[in-house]
Amino acid sequence: MNLHSDLQALQDFLRAALLDPARPHQLAISGSDEALSWQQLGGAVTDWAQRYQRCQAPSGTPVVLYGHQQAEFAVAIYSCLLNNIPYIPVDCIYPQERLKEICHLASAPYYYDVASRQFVATGEVGQPLAEQDLAYIMFTSGSTGKPKGVQIGRESVWHFMQWVREDFALPEVPVLMNHAVFSFDLSLIPLLANLATGGHIVLNAKEDIAAENWLDRLKNNDVSVWVSTPSFAYQKLLSPQFNSDYLPALGVFVFIGEVLNKALVKQLRRRFPQAKILNSYGPTEATIATTVVEITDAILNSQNDLLPIGTMMPESHMEITAEGEMIIWGKNVMRGYLGLPQENAQKLLRREGETWRGYKTGDLGYQDGLLYCQGRNDSQIKLNGYRIEINEIENRLLAMSGIREAVVLPLMKAGGGVLRIAAFCVTNLAPDAIKHSLSQVVPSYMVPSQIIIQEALPLNPNGKIDRKLLDSHARSH
Ligand code: AMP
Repeated sequence: MNLHSDLQALQDFLRAALLDPARPHQLAISGSDEALSWQQLGGAVTDWAQRYQRCQAPSGTPVVLYGHQQAEFAVAIYSCLLNNIPYIPVDCIYPQERLKEICHLASAPYYYDVASRQFVATGEVGQPLAEQDLAYIMFTSGSTGKPKGVQIGRESVWHFMQWVREDFALPEVPVLMNHAVFSFDLSLIPLLANLATGGHIVLNAKEDIAAENWLDRLKNNDVSVWVSTPSFAYQKLLSPQFNSDYLPALGVFVFIGEVLNKALVKQLRRRFPQAKILNSYGPTEATIATTVVEITDAILNSQNDLLPIGTMMPESHMEITAEGEMIIWGKNVMRGYLGLPQENAQKLLRREGETWRGYKTGDLGYQDGLLYCQGRNDSQIKLNGYRIEINEIENRLLAMSGIREAVVLPLMKAGGGVLRIAAFCVTNLAPDAIKHSLSQVVPSYMVPSQIIIQEALPLNPNGKIDRKLLDSHARSH
């Protein structure tokens, strides 16, 4: 299929799914604000596009969507997809300063404040994007100290939707649980699977999830598909009601975003003996997810401590370099980072004989029948599923007046995974003041939980900062 026919197929599909739905009276979205049937969703999507048109934003400019788990947020996303408006999702967990920064980096003339349902002029002169037919731009933590915009084409979204419908063991009409903020592309698994199948998506605000009776929301909606990071599911195991007696409809778990370990799968097997458990892998730069595998008992009982990430989606393949780095080639690879030619030259590959681009993931892996991911070759980490560039935090600290030196360390758990982040600063500022300033420019999950003030940073015999010493210092602090 060529690009043009992919784009046409997506357009036809979206028009039918949203404006002529197969099950008009069935619920389509339950958000933190309201619930909409497919028929109501069609009306809301049309209404949103009309209101956006009245802003008269220059064509080809992106719109920023700012909110948190409202049905209206999903309406805006679906409307952007239907009307070919590139969108940039930003959750309210991000401070206003980051919202401003993103509007500026993307030259977006408006952002849509989902809570008030208002388009707000940003003061930016709208610049049409150089890339045509972009579905969205997702901003992730960038090592240079600024967020970087991953540009995803509409063809990649269409490709993903078809794959998810075929290969994710979904029931015919799934009810999908979403916990992830819309600025984390994990949320697009339930959001796009919902579109692809005509199902029902249940969005969960942070306050809903924190409430003691949150599982009732899943029970009352007959949630059948769970999509989350492994960390999120671990937290929920603390609730004794998190089991198949209480949630009998829950039959599929999809995990992505960080390492899935055997201990979690074993616990889930005990709680949900009949459920299918899928492990999926993929960086934002390769459109949400690239591999998937069902974790069967045979896999679980194998000698290998590491669980596989599975096999590649269609029209893509994985190359593993001599150094072990995984390179994804395929229709799912991004168009590039917005306005970052140097990063694009480093991360994106073109090769004769390859129809699509290649993306150097920075993940190490190997293939033994199935693919396995062994972690990073750089300073990118995952904390509770959130992707963080340690260098971004360091650079933000160094940009603060009064901080002379700064080192940021992820403290690792014994069994792998990040326990917490610690920062060491040479400064006269107090830790609380540093935390406060940092929280003005980065989301709270990027603010180190420990800030330790030092007179000077210790050096090892090679003259490098002694990170081992700092690590043990942070643990005993
Ligand atoms: P993000 O762009 O936030 O989706 O993060 C992508 C990164 O998360 C990947 O490059 C991996 O380092 C990590 N990751 C995602 N899924 C998995 C998985 N199933 N197993 C291990 N690591 C994963």
